[in-house]
Amino acid sequence: MRIFNTLTNKLEEFVPIHEDTVNMYVCGPTVYNYIHIGNARPVIFFDVVRRYFEHKGYTVNFVSNFTDVDDKVITKALEDEMSELEVANKFIEAFYRDAQRVGSSTKYLAPRVTEYMSSIISYIERLVEKDYAYQVDGDVYFRVGKIDDYGILSGRKVEDLKEGARIDVNSRKENPLDFTLWKSTDVGITWPSPFGEGRPGWHTECVAMINDIFGGKIDIHGGGSEIKFPHHENEIAQAKALDGTNIANYWMHNGQLNIDDKKMSKSEGRIVLVKDLDHDYMGFRLFSLSTHYRSPINYTDDILDSYVKDWDRTRRVYKQSYYSLDLKDALEVKSEQTPELKGIELKFMDAMDNDFNTANAITELQNLVKYTNQILRKSDTEHALKAAIELFDTFFRILGLDPGVTKLSATDKAIYMEWADARRNKEFDKADRLREKLQERGIL
Ligand SMILES: [Zn+2]
Repeated sequence: MRIFNTLTNKLEEFVPIHEDTVNMYVCGPTVYNYIHIGNARPVIFFDVVRRYFEHKGYTVNFVSNFTDVDDKVITKALEDEMSELEVANKFIEAFYRDAQRVGSSTKYLAPRVTEYMSSIISYIERLVEKDYAYQVDGDVYFRVGKIDDYGILSGRKVEDLKEGARIDVNSRKENPLDFTLWKSTDVGITWPSPFGEGRPGWHTECVAMINDIFGGKIDIHGGGSEIKFPHHENEIAQAKALDGTNIANYWMHNGQLNIDDKKMSKSEGRIVLVKDLDHDYMGFRLFSLSTHYRSPINYTDDILDSYVKDWDRTRRVYKQSYYSLDLKDALEVKSEQTPELKGIELKFMDAMDNDFNTANAITELQNLVKYTNQILRKSDTEHALKAAIELFDTFFRILGLDPGVTKLSATDKAIYMEWADARRNKEFDKADRLREKLQERGIL
């Protein structure tokens, strides 16, 4: 299994630190607003990463945090006359609702900054003790100059960064690149610390949490490409300063989502919230996985529509196959994989093994739809149909797609039989009435 490691810019064979276990951490949202469809991309993609590792037999320890202390959370709390905790609770709840809508599991460890404050403070204290950080009037800054290969992840050179940072004149810092670990402030929620009353900067929470939860280096660190610099670069710098490691063996970054080929922008009205999508969410999930995760993905209403239709077709073929066996009480027949099904399965797994190429995997899902349609048209194909259903189930489980098809009830079956009889006997009015009934029950 190969992963494109953004730290080395190479496709690398995946070798876990602990056999059969994958320890992974994905930077989560700052909870001051509803998530938009761009925020949903990592929520969907890294959920698929977890699912695929589990499919391969790994135990996956998946952690993704909530940033519930931040300028944006404080501003929102002041605006809405709520406490920071109330703002965070509201949008964490909304986040879980949206994650479930798009088919991602929410059963993972989701630490909050407010719960890890003592770990964050002691992490910063250790950086100060080791002289990698310094205090100025209650603020604490990280000494970037002490990290030889600062810029290793984002491929930036310190000289160029310095050039760019000159505009941001902060005479309190020794070096314009030094970043804030602790901020002395009396605005919004604050905590006491050895450096004075204040709150942490953004970059320490993830390393402190990873340290606490995993006890050291993890296998995979993920997030959106827009936080590669400075956030992930600064995580690496801090972990190097304390432990001499870069905290993760593999770094994975997903590309951005654009709307109408342009960057999403709230001020220009180019933003779509997940909760406002008035489409089938499974269709959206399919769309989101239809482009390789490292590439940017372009959203338009038409593109989404085509995936919603695609999902409809997939679901319909699955449903027809499932019900055709169910109506004959043949759901438990032995499955018999045909060479065509085997070929589709191999290509799907190959795509997933090759840096989670969900785009190619979805092509195989479409091939499965086409092939199953052919089986459906033939008679005496129960065993192959059963194998096709099993393969659908595997693909759905890995991609996190839910067709929502369950066994027919006795009443459903009776109506269906009656409908089939009416059709056979050319009782058209009766057949039409029964068809409507079956449609209402979601069977046809
Ligand atoms: Zn982070």
